[in-house]
Amino acid sequence: MKLLSNVKIKPRFWEFLPWFSSYTAQAIYPNIYFPKETYEKLCSKNPDLKYVAVLLHEQTHIERQRKLGWVKWGAKYALFPKFRFNEELEAIKVQMSYLKKHNRKFDVEKGARYLSGWLYFRPVSYKTVRRILEKVWKGI
Ligand SMILES: [Zn+2]
Repeated sequence: MKLLSNVKIKPRFWEFLPWFSSYTAQAIYPNIYFPKETYEKLCSKNPDLKYVAVLLHEQTHIERQRKLGWVKWGAKYALFPKFRFNEELEAIKVQMSYLKKHNRKFDVEKGARYLSGWLYFRPVSYKTVRRILEKVWKGI
């Protein structure tokens, strides 16, 4: 698929920073960064829908960063666990609805582990996140 010009390959040296590991994508206004392998998969003719869903997730972050102002968004995201969790949830909703539309599954358990984990400074417990994600998935 053709990617917008704000979608880029993650610089190699970022891999040394835990938050920018080679597995994750980042939305840093105005750009979205993907690991090289994922970027190339997205550029292919028929990319795996799970990567497209991640792209939509990151685009949601960019759109919300634009609306609030990326400096304010970034500060709130860094400082307030509730804000951070809510922003992730909004992006996950977009991701989920794309997957559901295409009869794909969202890995609730993995998502819950991730969102309740160290990467996000544990804003909410695993159990709570899992319950919320299951409810959102059902409601979409
Ligand atoms: Zn996110």
